[in-house]
Amino acid sequence: MIKFNKPYYTGKETYYIQDAIHTQRKISGNGFYTKKCQNYFEEKYGYRKTLMTTSCTDALEMASILIGLEQGDEVIVPSFTFVSSANAFVLRGAKMVFCDSERDNPNMDANLLEALITDKTKAIVVVHYAGVACDMDKIMALAKQHNIFVVEDAAQAIDSTYKGRPLGGIGHLGAISFHETKNIISGEGGLLIVNDESMVARSEILWEKGTNRSAFFRGEIDKYNWVDIGSSYLPSDILSAFLWSQLESLEDIQKRRIEIWNRYYEGLKELETRGTVELPRIPDYAVNNAHMFYVICDSESTRSELIKYLNAKEIFPVSHYISLHKSPYVEHTYSDRVELPNSDKYSDRLLRLPYYYELKEKDQELVISEIKEFFKG
Ligand SMILES: *Cc1c(COP(=O)(O)O)cnc(C)c1O
Repeated sequence: MIKFNKPYYTGKETYYIQDAIHTQRKISGNGFYTKKCQNYFEEKYGYRKTLMTTSCTDALEMASILIGLEQGDEVIVPSFTFVSSANAFVLRGAKMVFCDSERDNPNMDANLLEALITDKTKAIVVVHYAGVACDMDKIMALAKQHNIFVVEDAAQAIDSTYKGRPLGGIGHLGAISFHETKNIISGEGGLLIVNDESMVARSEILWEKGTNRSAFFRGEIDKYNWVDIGSSYLPSDILSAFLWSQLESLEDIQKRRIEIWNRYYEGLKELETRGTVELPRIPDYAVNNAHMFYVICDSESTRSELIKYLNAKEIFPVSHYISLHKSPYVEHTYSDRVELPNSDKYSDRLLRLPYYYELKEKDQELVISEIKEFFKG
């Protein structure tokens, strides 16, 4: 059986967790490993300020507070994304405005954004699908011109760049996920990236339940107080200890994932040349962090047939998001209806192939040959 995902453990997770428990003797938040991970991200990627969170969803919720959302503000978000890209902002009272994907790339089409901006627009949430960068120069220029915030949902985009700049570090704020389906994992877990200097101090306060406890622990003040709204977004140091072992192996993990990606691409490109399927397209300004590999079928029914065929061979590929603008939540809360044909294209026709560090070469070759066999028929 070839599953879609299998979490990869480097083997040192329990060592660091035991160290947190027995040696550091501190397993609440903001401990030894939390700081170690945050320092790693700030040094390696040059992010201004990072905060470990219990999920990428939590990091996005913090972002929605940091941009000062008010009831009725509009936030532009791609329709082809995970619910959290929208939900985090809906929770603070925002109305979602859905942007379509590009025709040959699931990312939001930056050329459509200007028409969606109104005087209520507060932010654009950019999602780097499959870790492939959106057209950030265009998006940042537009945001600057209209005085709106950019939040990067870089959940899938660890170690990926746009014109050499690490994703998550370009917008005002960014968020990364360490959910067990991502490249680098801690089971559940995330990272908030604060690039806008004016939000740095407040981000720490939100993280520490609305108190200035971080400044207190640094000895900057002599007692800590309730100073703002906030919540408990900081994870236990056990989660960060787990993540640390993964970060130590980041290069090795990425090297392996890129090999897998290249093998899929080489193996399947003749199907694309023949016009049977579309394969991922990496724009010149992006690099590939090898988060996923997908094929896009010519119709929803072809995809269903392909899934059925592969499942019969014990191979388990999976489809992805259902367009948010067609979700039951949007249908029963929003009165306006929009047509987003490219988002629907990826909803209906994109199929993600089995992808994990330990995927054996012979299993991957089997996935490739079975897909080719299916399309021969
Ligand atoms: C995985 C994912 C999330 C959510 O991440 P969690 O850490 O599970 O909260 C959000 N957005 C996108 C695009 C994702 O892929």
